[in-house]
Amino acid sequence: MTARAAHPPIHPIIGHERAQQVLMAAVRTQRLAHAYLFTGPDGIGKRLVATRWAMAINCEAPPKTGFGGCGACRACTMALAGNHPDLIVIEPDGLFIKIEQIRAVQAALGLTAWSGSRKIILIDQADRLNQEAANCLLKTLEEPPAASLLILISASPDDLLPTLRSRCHPIRFSPLAPDALTPWLIGEQRWSAEDAALVGAVAGGCIGRALAVDPSTLREERDQIDHWITESCLERTGSDRALSRLTEGAETAALTPEQFERTLRWLLLWLQDAVRLIVSTNQAGALSRFPSAQRAARQLPIAACSDLASQLHWTWRASYRNINRHLLLEQWLIALREAYLGSPHRSRSQEPTAP
Ligand SMILES: [Zn+2]
Repeated sequence: MTARAAHPPIHPIIGHERAQQVLMAAVRTQRLAHAYLFTGPDGIGKRLVATRWAMAINCEAPPKTGFGGCGACRACTMALAGNHPDLIVIEPDGLFIKIEQIRAVQAALGLTAWSGSRKIILIDQADRLNQEAANCLLKTLEEPPAASLLILISASPDDLLPTLRSRCHPIRFSPLAPDALTPWLIGEQRWSAEDAALVGAVAGGCIGRALAVDPSTLREERDQIDHWITESCLERTGSDRALSRLTEGAETAALTPEQFERTLRWLLLWLQDAVRLIVSTNQAGALSRFPSAQRAARQLPIAACSDLASQLHWTWRASYRNINRHLLLEQWLIALREAYLGSPHRSRSQEPTAP
């Protein structure tokens, strides 16, 4: 059996207020469904919410307000230590969740729960159930044992069997606004404002992603992107060298889908910075994460930024349709270069003030 007890991560839940309310209302009114499906991007806190909710369900002295258990009773103490006998976590064993793991779950569900609590099975990355395992789990969902609760967690719920999905009560998790993450990174993680703003933006509102990032590596990556854009797109002289730098960089960035997506995220941040600087009436006061965006903002027409944003989103979508990533990236950078170099130099006073 590859199941193991849950170890709730130590960081607090940030955001997801609606999900917390719905889940605690179900506990307090004792109207729990037999199965739930938590969906939302990776690293957003689905598993953290699930483990804290499981603690609340089996707590011996549940608090009347707030989210989670009391944190002090025997059940909560065991849950916090990761050894509550009725909280079992299943996750992929290698690439997939296999039928033996689901059979082990079924065997555990057949045993009496400890001290009158509910048997809770948390299946993380449920979209990785292989066909056999999914069919096996379906039987449990069709006839759920009394005092049992299944929580399926997935960032790609469309990859789950529709029959599995339809038997679960859905709880959706959305990314936090980067602004919600930044104060917590500064206050609790003691990060500098610059690091927190950078990581908050790159993590796309996912706390798990933010905590997995090393700010110094991120700064280095940002500096590389900044340097690359300057050399490839903003230099008026030596266009042959600039274009070969542009192609080389695009080739490296497009090597893997992950690297490509990461580069697009950086380019989007860069463009957001440039737009913010262009529309800002206080150039000096507007902070930029990229010196090259500051330079570009002095000359890039706002209408071109809007086209570049559309093209970037199109590039993102097109990459899912097996279109050559390298060429997509090259096209976008050439469009940026042309927009920047082709635009007549204007003074700030002649530029539009808002998009
Ligand atoms: Zn408790």
